Amino acid sequence: MTDMAAFIAGLPKAEIHVHHVGSASPRIVAQLAARHPDGKVPVDPEELADYFTFRDFAHFIEVYLSVVDLIRTPEDVRLLTYEIARDMAEQRIGYAEMTVTPFSSVRRGIDPVEFMAAIEDARTSAESEFGTVLRWCFDIPGEAGLPAADSTLELATRYRPDGLVSFGLGGPEIGVPRPQFKPYFDRAIAEGLRSVPHAGESTGPETIWDALVDLRAERIGHGTSAITDPKLLEHLAEHRIPLEVCPTSNIATRVVTTMEEHPLRTMVEAGVPVTINSDDPPMFGTDLNTEYLIAARLLDLDTDGVAGLAKNAVDASFAESTTKTELSSRIDDYARQWRDQEESPAQRAH
Ligand SMILES: [Zn+2]
Repeated sequence: MTDMAAFIAGLPKAEIHVHHVGSASPRIVAQLAARHPDGKVPVDPEELADYFTFRDFAHFIEVYLSVVDLIRTPEDVRLLTYEIARDMAEQRIGYAEMTVTPFSSVRRGIDPVEFMAAIEDARTSAESEFGTVLRWCFDIPGEAGLPAADSTLELATRYRPDGLVSFGLGGPEIGVPRPQFKPYFDRAIAEGLRSVPHAGESTGPETIWDALVDLRAERIGHGTSAITDPKLLEHLAEHRIPLEVCPTSNIATRVVTTMEEHPLRTMVEAGVPVTINSDDPPMFGTDLNTEYLIAARLLDLDTDGVAGLAKNAVDASFAESTTKTELSSRIDDYARQWRDQEESPAQRAH
């Protein structure tokens, strides 16, 4: 492990763009597959590891859907969520906003009340046992259109769980115009939820403008195409609207061709607040620590610079102010201790 990798592994972090089912690691999928051995997912650990090795986007969709198929009961939902938090804690993620798509589970027959109880039980257990604070973003799966928007809004408002902080929009962007969801976001915002749609990942900057104007986005999921519109970059910088950047995901979905061409540096140089995230980490063969390492390389950062990125995510989060203050000072303390250790003569002698 390089020094930077070691620094990142121990750095307290926040993750603000990560999907629920997309966070199911092979370890968790093995547990779910054992509960439902009739599924398509191999139960043998070696075969499962091979099945999970990221090949291309089509393979990602296949793996994703086969995991969706294993989430059939409230206990599956609870187990998935709780075990994701365990994986997060191992990466020193102290706070995470997880994007959940309750529409998919409810459509598959899970009772909404039991679904909410399952994620909330996982959330409170994870916080007390692992120390990782979880919050939810309920997102509309865009490909399922307005009926999914109706249902997601109802689930977010009528069955609202305590951990819910935001309302999102995911799925494909092409052929799914953002403005049609305006009434749903208006209602969600009126109910006190924050607006965090995906935009400008597979389409141009006009989709980001739509998200800002029509959906009143406070943060943008991805926003990769913002770099093609200088006025938009200026707007994001001036209004301090953070982008949730997920480098490996962008390569996996071919939004960006190679990591060397990733627009992260352009975003930072334009003064836009950026945060580093992992999106669907095990399915894209990554984790948050790997994404930070990539960002450190792309931005040429030292350990203090990486700590600054971690603080960006805390600032951009919808965590309560006490959580923000506590996590930010843990980041500062850790970075300071690292620096002191590096500067001490005893260390240098080694
Ligand atoms: Zn996403």
